[in-house]
Amino acid sequence: WQRGVLRRATSRAEDGGGYITMSRIDLHLHTTHSDGSFSTGEVMAFAKQAGLKALAITDHDIIDGIPEATAIGKELEIEVVPGVEISSRLGESELHILGYFLNWTDPLLAQRLSTLRDSRHLRNPKIVQRLNELGIPITYEEVRALAGTESVGRPHIARLLMEKKFVTSAKEAFDRYLANGRPAFVDRELPEPAEAVRWIREAGGVPVLAHPTWVRTSADGLRVLVRELKAAGLGGIEVHYSTHTPSQTTEYLDLAKQCDLLVTGGSDFHGVTKPDIEVGIGRGQLKVSEKLLDPLRKAATSS
Ligand code: AMP
Ligand code: ZN
Ligand code: FE
Ligand code: FE
Repeated sequence: WQRGVLRRATSRAEDGGGYITMSRIDLHLHTTHSDGSFSTGEVMAFAKQAGLKALAITDHDIIDGIPEATAIGKELEIEVVPGVEISSRLGESELHILGYFLNWTDPLLAQRLSTLRDSRHLRNPKIVQRLNELGIPITYEEVRALAGTESVGRPHIARLLMEKKFVTSAKEAFDRYLANGRPAFVDRELPEPAEAVRWIREAGGVPVLAHPTWVRTSADGLRVLVRELKAAGLGGIEVHYSTHTPSQTTEYLDLAKQCDLLVTGGSDFHGVTKPDIEVGIGRGQLKVSEKLLDPLRKAATSS
């Protein structure tokens, strides 16, 4: 991992492509506090190697890693933006809302996130039971031990299936068993998108629509949705993302301008369950400018 990051960062610095003139950030990162496979310290070491000026840890439904990340950030001279990622319900699928510059000591936010984690603990044993019925003998205790956190997600189950050689990749685990519509998929209780937006606002943060490429709707449908969410308090769109194509990036940038929303970007680094994605550079093309950070900071009411 580290060698890969170093090699690419070096080749970029030498390619004259403007990489050394633009200070970069990454506002979408997962650690072992949720379903990432690297600790906060490891993720931040990768960020340092990639030359990032600032980053946001956006673990699913949990903010416990923020004090540690902030302390490490001081050592490494990397600004740490308090963040979170909340899944919400959109019809049959999900919509993810990122939150930035949250007041992470807010007790109401902590209580709300705790309820979301509880919904994971209700769902996950049912997934394990489905897998057992499909002839895969694993236990939820094994999943919890592997996860080592209260925010247990399907990628933890995918990793256990990899370790036990039932699959060779997380992608295979999702494609065969865990993805929506596959035989071991079990839904969980999720808030409405507008509710997730409101929770982040009430904690002083800026709510941002994550990876619009995953929203299963037309361009018109996305525009209507974004306008509705803006009325509920949405502050930005994650325009820059590891798997956005150049034309998608342009489309979402236009949408953000039309709707007077801020632009953010990040890799959605998870480590081993998304092995093609690296901190700060995604699949190699991601470039998120430091200039996006101050407008986001100013839009927050946490400080
Ligand atoms: P959960 O939060 O437990 O519902 O799990 C959803 C998470 O699984 C997403 O946030 C992604 O990080 C991850 N995920 C979803 N689909 C895939 C996939 N095909 N391969 C790897 N990870 C995935
Ligand atoms: Zn995840
Ligand atoms: Fe997400
Ligand atoms: Fe994510």
